[in-house]
Amino acid sequence: MAITHNLGFPRIGANRELKFALESYWRGESSLNALQEVGRQLRQRHWNQQAGLDFVPVGDFSFYDHVLDMSFTLGNLPKRVQGFHGETLDNYFRVARGLSAESVDGHGPCCGGVSAGEMTKWFDTNYHYIVPEFTAATEFNLDSSRLLEQLAEAKAHGLKAKPVIIGPVTYLALGKSKDGSDKLALLPRLLAAYTQLLDSLAAEEVEWVQIDEPILVTELDGAWQNAFNSAYGQLKNCRVKLLLATYFGQLLENRSLAAHLPVAGLHVDAINGRDDIFPLLELLPSNKVLSLGVINGRNIWKTDLHATLEWLEPIHRVLQNRLWVAPSCSLIHVPVDLDSERDLDPEIRSWLAFALQKLDELQLLAKALNNGRVPVQAELISNHVAVERRRTSNRVHNPAIKAAISGIDVSLGERISPYEQRAAKQAALLKLPAYPTTTIGSFPQTADIRHARSEFKSGRLGLAGYKAQMQKEIAHSVQEQEALGLDVLVHGEAERNDMVEYFGEQLDGYAFSQFGWVQSYGSRCVKPPILFGDISRPKAMTLDWITYAQSLTSKPMKGMLTGPVTILNWSFVRDDQPRSVSCTQLALAIRQEVLDLEKAGIRIIQIDEAALREGLPLRKLQWKEYLEWAVGSFRIAANGVEDETQIHTHMCYSDFNDIIASIADMDADVITIETSRSDMKLLDAFDDFSYPNEIGPGVYDIHSPNIPTPERMVQLMKNAAKRIPPERLWVNPDCGLKTRRWDEVIPALTNMVAAAKLLRSTTSST
Ligand code: GLN
Ligand code: ZN
Repeated sequence: MAITHNLGFPRIGANRELKFALESYWRGESSLNALQEVGRQLRQRHWNQQAGLDFVPVGDFSFYDHVLDMSFTLGNLPKRVQGFHGETLDNYFRVARGLSAESVDGHGPCCGGVSAGEMTKWFDTNYHYIVPEFTAATEFNLDSSRLLEQLAEAKAHGLKAKPVIIGPVTYLALGKSKDGSDKLALLPRLLAAYTQLLDSLAAEEVEWVQIDEPILVTELDGAWQNAFNSAYGQLKNCRVKLLLATYFGQLLENRSLAAHLPVAGLHVDAINGRDDIFPLLELLPSNKVLSLGVINGRNIWKTDLHATLEWLEPIHRVLQNRLWVAPSCSLIHVPVDLDSERDLDPEIRSWLAFALQKLDELQLLAKALNNGRVPVQAELISNHVAVERRRTSNRVHNPAIKAAISGIDVSLGERISPYEQRAAKQAALLKLPAYPTTTIGSFPQTADIRHARSEFKSGRLGLAGYKAQMQKEIAHSVQEQEALGLDVLVHGEAERNDMVEYFGEQLDGYAFSQFGWVQSYGSRCVKPPILFGDISRPKAMTLDWITYAQSLTSKPMKGMLTGPVTILNWSFVRDDQPRSVSCTQLALAIRQEVLDLEKAGIRIIQIDEAALREGLPLRKLQWKEYLEWAVGSFRIAANGVEDETQIHTHMCYSDFNDIIASIADMDADVITIETSRSDMKLLDAFDDFSYPNEIGPGVYDIHSPNIPTPERMVQLMKNAAKRIPPERLWVNPDCGLKTRRWDEVIPALTNMVAAAKLLRSTTSST
């Protein structure tokens, strides 16, 4: 008998119930009890929805983040909150979100303010976790109450519960040593806490515990490999069976290590790590359970059940009841329920599966394995029909686009002349002063703007009224920028709700869900658009807004686009062709837009690639290939223009020391990056690598309400000028201004323009 289980369920709720409950609690509008009650209801509902499985996950629910939950379970709280009064959950939110001295929870005055824990990406997903903090003195102090309470709840429901925890080695690996000490030195202390934890679960008659060690799909040095052996060598004495779970990629050189760890079972990702499976079968000791993640937990397409069974049945014949089946990873990376969608095109909808549909697929697979295919033939046929229709649909496949892709040669990504020659022509045309000033694209998204957009979307505001309103906003932002004395203006992006969705909505080959929310961090969710087919651009997407903005000013107006790599990385994408192919198609569509803007007289065009760095694969081994096609796609999008047209790009979060050569290879004339918070420290990358083109290192931290002084910005620019020749420096904020208010933006930009003037006067006098 193949056993079914799930690694984790989306906790935010099909209607984002958890988000709203959290935010209401944080605003002081509802009680802690009310929040706890929402948590209980969501857990109950989600367990009911998983009740058909042989094991349901417990402890996967989280009020903010499962890594932070683990830190609390282990009693590893940052020093700065240890003395806090109040409820555990309040302390937990303090670490998660930070706390100002005037916070509504009443502990500001007694406990003081506290900064939020650092947040970073969970492997290569768009989920962000709170980074555990360590020092040489870190002690662990087990608090298993959260897990035990949820376990009791699940048992009261009569469910076969499988607690889920993060494994000790991954927990250490994901954390940050605050004092430079060796994290691995903490392992013995940490294992003592894990042993206690597993014992307390055993005391509750838990049979299996899922212990997540996804760090096994990354490159590990000898010390970390040893840590696995010593950790699990010690934990094997616990009275529960451990299912060690890895996901998101291939084990490769860690395969033998993973196969031989003294645990009762191993879960591997059979979607992203399929090539591991046959070699693993050879290695696996004959008493071990193998759980195969055969349903993609990262994407929203229906599983090809026929193909999966063809592959799985022979494995089942060998493993028999040692085979478990599951989604590849926790389902927190996909939306909850396709049945909530009312407006999705029925054909496209028939190709999709969200979390609940994926669990149905899983149970169908198990039935077919355990009882043969005949009893589920009808379901298998309907799955087959949907999969076949998608494979052959002319909504998906567009021969003209395929032909355009195959006709691409490298010259498409080449500018006519090298940077020095272009720069001279651009300078002659644009006549910009030294240290030119500009912004990153968006201006404050006011309540009026949001209201107009939502009225238009719902049909209550007609096209003409909407256009008039947006033009008014554009005119306002142009006026403000002229008054500020900025050199290169932007239209302000009032018409954009999101920098990816805006383009997705206008491209053929994209679909949108209504409720397809996925947790990004804490209460924040994103609704990634669905890239389902060959991409084309039926008509210009930004031209009208930008040419209107240009018509209002004699200063250069910077056209504003999102780049192909960022559009790709923030979407659900096709699984029937390589990501690189989808990216190239997006690049061709953006290229057309770039050329249309140029033709209309826009001579500065910015192509944002905010997500280029975060698309890097988990293993360094695969970076080169990714960077090649990612940079190649950007070049196709950008480089069809004349020498005189200046291409800008923008990247947030610019810790790109290790990819600086690829960034230079994009060959944008100007790149703007986020640097102000680090005091230009991020420019260290430029010490050893002389970046050949122009740079605008951000001097205004747009994440903070603080208004930087001209002196501070001059200082930052002088730091930058130590690494980059001043004649190639621009002065600009760190990122777009859409989350700020006009009354913050105006003084900050006034100071920024003043800073540029100071720089010009000191430079010309020396
Ligand atoms: N042009 C976008 C803006 O200004 C860039 C945002 C981003 O990089 N995340 O909002
Ligand atoms: Zn940015």
